[in-house]
Amino acid sequence: VKRGGKNGYRFYSPELDEELLFKIEIEADLRKAIERGELEVYYQPQYRMPDRQLIGIEALLRWKHPVRGMIPPDRFIPIAEETGIIMEIGRWVLREACLQTKIWHDAGQTKVPVSVNLSTQQFHQPDLEFEIERILVETGLDPQYLELEITESMMMDAALSIAIMNRLKRLGIRLSLDDFGTGYSSLSYLSMLPISRLKIDRSFVMRLEESGNERAIVTTIIAMAYSLGMDVIAEGIETEGQLEILTEQRCLEFQGYYFSRPVPPGDLFAGDADLSLGM
Ligand code: C2E
Ligand code: CA
Ligand code: CA
Ligand code: CA
Repeated sequence: VKRGGKNGYRFYSPELDEELLFKIEIEADLRKAIERGELEVYYQPQYRMPDRQLIGIEALLRWKHPVRGMIPPDRFIPIAEETGIIMEIGRWVLREACLQTKIWHDAGQTKVPVSVNLSTQQFHQPDLEFEIERILVETGLDPQYLELEITESMMMDAALSIAIMNRLKRLGIRLSLDDFGTGYSSLSYLSMLPISRLKIDRSFVMRLEESGNERAIVTTIIAMAYSLGMDVIAEGIETEGQLEILTEQRCLEFQGYYFSRPVPPGDLFAGDADLSLGM
């Protein structure tokens, strides 16, 4: 099944039909996925160089569909957003990630924060901070070990977004700005956001080795983050070359296949994830 195009009007086509059927089917299956235990959270480590210190883990949702196999989040999260099922799924991921992180902490693993991706709908949920507070209390996770990843595209209304973020910050959790550079640049607001970290989007990292433009953009993002007192992490690191360029630009934090793919919770501290330099 091919993805639907972005260009507005489309004539009826078998492909469109297939896409529609996919959506309808996925929507019905998603409603049952949680109770059937088909959803899982994988974890991808984040490191600080040069000593390759573990500084965090990102929680990434996985759906093992009984018939279709593994469906990537990019494929079903938009449908979950459209249908509102994302609220229940988002809640589930948050609880699961907090619970798992608490289990690791209690088992004596290095205490690092877990980063959970927030959806647009969750971000605008009026009682979000109460829900998160409840999850933190129920799972027993210390709030400083939860980071929420927010994207620029969620922040259509700057004043509202700042208010929401300030309410979340009061819980003692951390906020980061994901996919930075891809959205509408709310550059003028950036300094007003209670954000501790910028995530340089993979699309820039991907082209770093070929393009001087990308280097210039990344240099600017890094300088901006530091001047605002924020940390900066680059995602999607796949090669030694990308790591070198970013290190020259004074970026210290990294996440990507070069270090480790996202792995099931049982594998994260099992050695494999930690030793898989260069996969
Ligand atoms: P994202 O938040 O930008 O997450 C990073 C994506 O890049 C993940 O894809 C990750 O597996 C992938 N990745 C990490 N390192 C590399 C690399 O070196 N090379 C390449 N090619 N890819 C890399 P994934 O897990 O398929 O997730 C895709 C997107 O789905 C995420 O993008 C995020 O927007 C969304 N997503 C995932 N889990 C959740 C969730 O629990 N809630 C919400 N709302 N969205 C989620
Ligand atoms: Ca993310
Ligand atoms: Ca990202
Ligand atoms: Ca992305």
